[in-house]
Amino acid sequence: MDEDLSYRDTAIRALGADRHDTAADSYARAAYAELAGLQGRRRDVYDPETATWVGYPLGAFFLAAVCHRVDGADDRARNRAGQGIMVAGDHRDHLLDDPVAEAACHEWVGDFRTVAGDDDKARAAYDRAESGYEEAAPDDPVSWTTEPLLQAGTDTVLQLSRPDDVQWDDLHGSAPQQALTHRVRFKRSRLASMVAKRVDDGKLHAPRGSTEYGVGQFKCPDCGSSDVNYVADTVLCLRCDTPVDGR
Ligand SMILES: [Zn+2]
Repeated sequence: MDEDLSYRDTAIRALGADRHDTAADSYARAAYAELAGLQGRRRDVYDPETATWVGYPLGAFFLAAVCHRVDGADDRARNRAGQGIMVAGDHRDHLLDDPVAEAACHEWVGDFRTVAGDDDKARAAYDRAESGYEEAAPDDPVSWTTEPLLQAGTDTVLQLSRPDDVQWDDLHGSAPQQALTHRVRFKRSRLASMVAKRVDDGKLHAPRGSTEYGVGQFKCPDCGSSDVNYVADTVLCLRCDTPVDGR
């Protein structure tokens, strides 16, 4: 293992090598390190002032669970989902006090129930999230989507959607006042099939870093594409995640 690389970047490198078992464990390590404030954004997620940053470790638990599902280790996927549910519930009940943030924790529980395959419980959690957002009725729902608790969830869904690349607008819709409830409805109807698609394809793709198209000096050794993804301090093929050299 490259000692200078964060656990999250190590996970992404493992995805580039189609090692979903390794990626799952690295995402779990990322979750623990980020909960401890030692990696990633290095925020104290147990300080009520910065508790919303817990979104990122929650996202890491979710991606760990997806990787285990892709690897056929459904029991381990369920363990990671369970850990995420406990962290989200603890934050909801003890650290976050804004009703929008509390609804976002219900949304995370819905995501974890989904990846664990508990569809009924996922629906119930999403219903609680939707009514929580409706009752909270924030003045500017769109600005809430950039709070770490929600931004991390957006990042996670976008990565899960690759290579189809769901966009922010797909997730939040075109009516700003309904951005949060649209987000829940999108997940309630689509997230399970997005997970199933990754399992069927046997691949979770790396997240999009900065991308460049038709780069002359790069050619993917696997699929021949010259579209590249600069992520995890390396260069991956944007299409199939194979590491590409500058040849
Ligand atoms: Zn390729």
